[in-house]
Amino acid sequence: MDKKSKNILIVEDDKLTRAQIKNGLKEKGYKVSAVSTAREAIDYCIKTVCDMVLLDLGLPDNDGIYVIQTLRSFTNTLPIIVVSGRNNVESKVLALDAGANDYVTKPFAMDELFARIRKEFRYVVTEEKHLFINGNLTIDYDAKTVFVNGVEVHFTNFEYKIIVLLAYNLGKTLTYDYIISHVWGSGGQDQNALRVFMAGIRKKISRDGKSSKLIRTDIGTGYRMNKIN
Ligand code: CA
Repeated sequence: MDKKSKNILIVEDDKLTRAQIKNGLKEKGYKVSAVSTAREAIDYCIKTVCDMVLLDLGLPDNDGIYVIQTLRSFTNTLPIIVVSGRNNVESKVLALDAGANDYVTKPFAMDELFARIRKEFRYVVTEEKHLFINGNLTIDYDAKTVFVNGVEVHFTNFEYKIIVLLAYNLGKTLTYDYIISHVWGSGGQDQNALRVFMAGIRKKISRDGKSSKLIRTDIGTGYRMNKIN
């Protein structure tokens, strides 16, 4: 992937720091978006294809640790670098244990931040392809594409987010509300809309009639993706 196509989200409530990082990254050719609250950060990552998050911990509405935990509930591959003034071991351990890939303390040199960003992207690029395979279903997390019996099937943005969420939670029943809040954010859609999306997904993955066991409905509760041997 070309560096220019990388989309980095900055989560930082301090205007000066936000502008400094934003301008620096733009100069380096990255696409940059910036938000200043935990809520906006989570919404952004659910709704947009994001390649990396630079995350401040002291945010006005919630702690950055909560953002890490929430993001990790639906993506294990999104690189998260904490950029925080908290310079104690406990904070670093907490953030890394929650799922942050790296931790940069303020004040920082831009060149060091750039190097750490490059390091994370190098890791993503050289790592084995992120493929999820279950029965006749394959999800290529890098290309954000879905294959059924080896044939690429077009999934809409929301269908893709739903199936990825189910895949990450393989074997676990996810409640309607859980799925809705993770795909659309709170107050985004209702259960009827979700049902319509699930019907669409089922149709797409059941073309040969064999994969109908892949996604199960727990009536009154939610949906689950079963492990197919
Ligand atoms: Ca802050």
